[in-house]
Amino acid sequence: MTTEFTKGQKKRYFEKGGNECPLCLSTNITTIGNPIRDDGDGMCRQQMQCLICKKEWKDVFRRFDIESISEPDELSNVKQFIGAKPKGEEDGK
Ligand SMILES: [Zn+2]
Repeated sequence: MTTEFTKGQKKRYFEKGGNECPLCLSTNITTIGNPIRDDGDGMCRQQMQCLICKKEWKDVFRRFDIESISEPDELSNVKQFIGAKPKGEEDGK
C-alpha cells in the first residue's frame, strides 16, 4: 500500500520543476529506466527515485507536441510509409 502525495507535496514538486523529492525535498533524485510509452492516450510515465529516502514515484507527462531533431538517413525509406493511413482511420472513424 502506497501513500498518495498530498496536493501541497505535488504543488511544491511542480513549482520546483520536478527537481526534488516530493517527500524529503532532497535534490538527490534520479530516473529509473526509460520513460514508459503511452497506449495512445498521450500519457507517458517516468519512474523516479529519491536516493536519500528511497521513495519511488512516477512523473506523468502528457504529449502535446513533437519536435524534429534530424533528417532521416534515407528518404526513400520514408516514402514507403507515406501511403499508410494513421491508426484508427482505416475503419472510417
Ligand atoms: Zn526523498
